[in-house]
Amino acid sequence: MVLKKISRNVVIIGAGAAGMMCAIEAGKRGRSVILLDHAHKLAEKIRISGGGRCNFTNRYVKPENYLSENPHFCRSALARFTPQDFIALIEKHGIRYHEKKSGQLFCDDSSQQIIDMMQRECASAGVDWQMPSQVQRIEFVADNSAVECGGKRFLITTEQNVIATDSLVIATGGISIPQIGASPFGYQVANQFDIRVTLLRPGLVGLTFTADDFTGFKDISGISIDAVVSCDNASFRENVLFTHRGLSGPAILQISSYWQPSKPLHINILPQLDVSQIFSEHRQSAVLLPNLLARYLPKRFVQIWCSAIFAELSSVAKPMKQYRDNELHRIADRIHDWHIFPSGTVGYKKAEVTLGGVDTHELSSKTMESKRMPGLYFIGEVVDVTGQLGGYNFQWAWSSGYAAGQVV
Ligand SMILES: Cc1cc2nc3c(=O)[nH]c(=O)nc-3n(C[C@H](O)[C@H](O)[C@H](O)COP(=O)(O)OP(=O)(O)OC[C@H]3O[C@@H](n4cnc5c(N)ncnc54)[C@H](O)[C@@H]3O)c2cc1C
Repeated sequence: MVLKKISRNVVIIGAGAAGMMCAIEAGKRGRSVILLDHAHKLAEKIRISGGGRCNFTNRYVKPENYLSENPHFCRSALARFTPQDFIALIEKHGIRYHEKKSGQLFCDDSSQQIIDMMQRECASAGVDWQMPSQVQRIEFVADNSAVECGGKRFLITTEQNVIATDSLVIATGGISIPQIGASPFGYQVANQFDIRVTLLRPGLVGLTFTADDFTGFKDISGISIDAVVSCDNASFRENVLFTHRGLSGPAILQISSYWQPSKPLHINILPQLDVSQIFSEHRQSAVLLPNLLARYLPKRFVQIWCSAIFAELSSVAKPMKQYRDNELHRIADRIHDWHIFPSGTVGYKKAEVTLGGVDTHELSSKTMESKRMPGLYFIGEVVDVTGQLGGYNFQWAWSSGYAAGQVV
């Protein structure tokens, strides 16, 4: 079958947050744009985000909220399209929103409102859609004088047609949640053009433990505690949730992006209190130590935690007055610094993001264009820029999409 040949100023592969933002901006500049996606349903990640309410940005976005081999790379794009710019767009469309905590902004109603808003903006910018559509091949046309390329640099062969373009934008995201359309396509395109991709790993993800390390804890699945969780120089105070496989909850998702196999996590299970002080206040008391702790922490958690710590310290549950000072000292140390060794993560099927991606040293921080392959752009999560939990990942998608949209 002979495929129809068409030509556009800009082809964007991946119609998620970053791809749609780029399409809107390029369309507004009068460029002919085609947005191509292999999914049947538009922007599934936006739809499921933020528990269905999309934490679409964070008022206090800073470069320090991002992980990358090149921590300064995100600075320029974030400064040129800010959270306030996205909030202005939301307000223009009459979408009601609220702040949950620490600047995290969510829709009052549904994340579908963000998808509808982006679709309306695409329509008014004259963006064409091609979805579902599978890309079969991307060719760089070294000698683009040939008539069939219409003088364009890239030929994109899909199931439906061959599209010639000068600006090819890769916005296919990371590989987390493959069940809703995530694919390694973006990294494969980078490989095709000899563009380095950094090490990939799941981020914002639950952590698992070996059966031995986690004896008893799976019995308290569903219980959560307020804690400070640290690893290396990163530290987060949020809830830690016990699950049947290990640990989850916001504090664990946050620290998972900083954790490396074989490193311990340090957990302060009573961050709001000075336990040594409490112990000294009850030094002569007949209360059992686990009962004392259960005044501040869930009882089931205290039972399991104490058995694990007592086994490690060769101690037992006793009335407070029967402990030696050094025993209490070591228990207090563990309360403020319980170190545990995760065995791994629950993987890409559950991870909110993919850490790593197209090496930012290969891209212009102003335009997202490849230095090696002019006309080729990478935006959004496919790039080695990963935000913390709290609206930072969408802001990166909007900002990097906007940056490329000004020049493609
Ligand atoms: C459960 C969950 C909740 C989240 N909640 C939040 C949140 O509240 N706030 C926040 O900031 N971040 C959140 N994130 C992260 C955020 O969703 C992503 O960082 C963001 O969507 C990345 O945008 P993107 O446009 O780069 O990629 P995506 O949104 O993933 O879009 C990529 C698009 O490319 C398409 N695609 C993939 N492969 C191909 C291919 N081979 N051919 C054609 N098309 C292809 C996909 O179908 C998809 O439409 C969440 C993520 C998950 C998984």
